Amino acid sequence: MNEDQQLYVSEPLKQTGRLMIKDENLCVHCGLCAERCPTAAWDMQKSTVEIPYAIDEMKQEESRCRQARKAG
Ligand code: SF4
Repeated sequence: MNEDQQLYVSEPLKQTGRLMIKDENLCVHCGLCAERCPTAAWDMQKSTVEIPYAIDEMKQEESRCRQARKAG
């Protein structure tokens, strides 16, 4: 948990005067709130997060070495 993470707090909403407050420490980005929004005011889409791993870098380096050996 990132205790330095600030809460998102909106200005009072025009229609109700209520605030929207979001805590990124708790949100798991499940998208349920986007699904339930009665006006489809916002959307969540699938995305892929690519996290670099050392093993992937090693495999790429091995591949480069193999190609260099073949080339002579
Ligand atoms: S419903 Fe899901 S995406 Fe929406 S705020 Fe809660 S945890 Fe985050």
